[in-house]
Amino acid sequence: MARCAVLVVAAGRGRRFGGDLPKQYRDLGGRPVLRHSLGLFRADPRISLVRAVIHPDDQGLYDLAAAGLDLGPPVPGGAERQDSVRLGLESLAGPAAPDLVLIHDGARPFVDADLIGRVIAALKDHPGAVPALPVADTLKRGADGLVAGTVERAGLWRAQTPQGFRFAEILAAHRAAAGRALTDDAAVLESAGLAVALVPGGEDNVKITTALDLERAARLFQGPGETRIGNGFDAHRFAPGTAVTLCGVAIPHECGLEGHSDADVALHAVTDALLGAIAAGDIGLHFPPSDPRWRGAPSRLFVEHARRLIEGLSGQVVNIDLTVICEAPRIGPWRAEMADGLAAMLGVSSGRVGVKATTTEGMGFTGRREGIAAQAVAMVRLPR
Ligand code: MG
Repeated sequence: MARCAVLVVAAGRGRRFGGDLPKQYRDLGGRPVLRHSLGLFRADPRISLVRAVIHPDDQGLYDLAAAGLDLGPPVPGGAERQDSVRLGLESLAGPAAPDLVLIHDGARPFVDADLIGRVIAALKDHPGAVPALPVADTLKRGADGLVAGTVERAGLWRAQTPQGFRFAEILAAHRAAAGRALTDDAAVLESAGLAVALVPGGEDNVKITTALDLERAARLFQGPGETRIGNGFDAHRFAPGTAVTLCGVAIPHECGLEGHSDADVALHAVTDALLGAIAAGDIGLHFPPSDPRWRGAPSRLFVEHARRLIEGLSGQVVNIDLTVICEAPRIGPWRAEMADGLAAMLGVSSGRVGVKATTTEGMGFTGRREGIAAQAVAMVRLPR
């Protein structure tokens, strides 16, 4: 299979948008605009690498937008979009260069898997491919507030992103076109005399340029969707140690917990709840206990994996309710830290994560202080 990388271009300052916060970092449905496409590409099995190109001033905003996606460092962009793309392509060049690259505007949050598939498929026969929609409105040329002519619209298309290319060709074309201020990457390939295929774009694959666009996108995001629920349960046995790890917090105790990873029983229950909500199997399917990679691993990796799968469906965690079941240690003093940590892993506010604790009044295995159990429910919204 051809190795396909994605460059998400997010280095713009949003001069047409106004305000201090660049549009790609504005909130859309509880997440930064940029997060939507980063999350979708990251979860796509056809894509081997996702790299963002950002403005150097935006590192902190980017870190928040990409939290938990494990993307590696972004590339600093240049003065113009074309410079930013070229710098991104140069960062991918070398012995490990991909065969194909998709170049996507970070301000287009609604790209979908089918559209990505059409672009990749067209690259079998063409060095470049652009998703596009035919122009439906009649086009007028204007001058001084008057119509100066009607433009024949037959054969005219509105180009979207991601635009796909064979990597070597687009890198060479960008190097040759440096400084020419072409408005998209297809134009760069065209300037090298190479063919660019048109594939059907998506009506929802809008670019957010103005505040009104963002309002429309928010309505689109809230459109017909559905809410899913999942539940998870786990138990781990006590073992010699000095602390138990719950929601990533090391809680001092007279013993630890036995397990292949860090035995974070709370995060295991949460992971299963998240996977259950999207019918994606259970934690053992994704992280087999027989795999030495997960020995001693922090269980936040499992939660972040489940989050990425949800984001790959353009979904979002609504809330988590977690109950830890044990006689000891006492959870109360750690509750807020546990909830905050879990909320950060999921990219939601702390108010969406409930952490509760109970004993079983001395009954059963938790009552006999043989271990800790946890159960969780997760609500997930799949917007479209
Ligand atoms: Mg477990």
